Amino acid sequence: MNDQFEFDRRQMVEDQILGRGLRDPRLLAVFESVPRHLFVPQEDRYLAYADGPLSIGFDQTISQPYIVALMTSLLHLEGDERVLEVGTGSGYQAAILARMAEEVHTVELLPELAARAKGLLSEYPNVFCHVGDGSLGWQESAPYDGIIVTAAAPETPQALLDQLKDGGRLVIPVGRRGYQKLELWTRQGNQFDRDALIEVAFVPLRGKHGW
Ligand code: SAM
Repeated sequence: MNDQFEFDRRQMVEDQILGRGLRDPRLLAVFESVPRHLFVPQEDRYLAYADGPLSIGFDQTISQPYIVALMTSLLHLEGDERVLEVGTGSGYQAAILARMAEEVHTVELLPELAARAKGLLSEYPNVFCHVGDGSLGWQESAPYDGIIVTAAAPETPQALLDQLKDGGRLVIPVGRRGYQKLELWTRQGNQFDRDALIEVAFVPLRGKHGW
């Protein structure tokens, strides 16, 4: 995409994503193509490609670009998958997923944020926006090849594990408020393997299986 932020976006990809060891050319091309500045409040657009999260109102945030890239890369997407995102927020992560997978379902608890993101995501016809409690997953379109939770849970909700396909992968921050470990779950039949990766700090997941 050609716009006034093209240079900033390329720098973001080189310094923050490639520079931290994520080398998948497809992932890098997608981050170069999605205009992150459109997903942040107008007055903060000059900060859109900076190395950190930003406020999007309603006490919520758009995550740091590197964290969005890392979580996306952990799903090992090749292009033909159905993916669920819990926590639409700004819609940026859903836009990235839309370019990496075949079909994306994204669930947001706050109707105001969901409505705003839905408008921005109209450019991405393979994204389906839902309003509701994503701690329960989104049963209607299950099972999923990948699930990404962008808010911190006290524990990994069983409902989300149940909605994974055989061979599917789930990425979720789990821990206490202000401090969590990013967990990667993989399903093989009825067996679920868990890896705890880096330390992160996400806003809390609300709802039945949240805080
Ligand atoms: N993925 C987002 C993006 O790209 O901008 C960032 C999400 S923000 C860190 C976390 C989001 O999760 C917030 O928008 C919050 O309202 C939402 N959320 C919290 N609990 C939820 C729940 N139970 N179901 C759905 N969304 C939830």
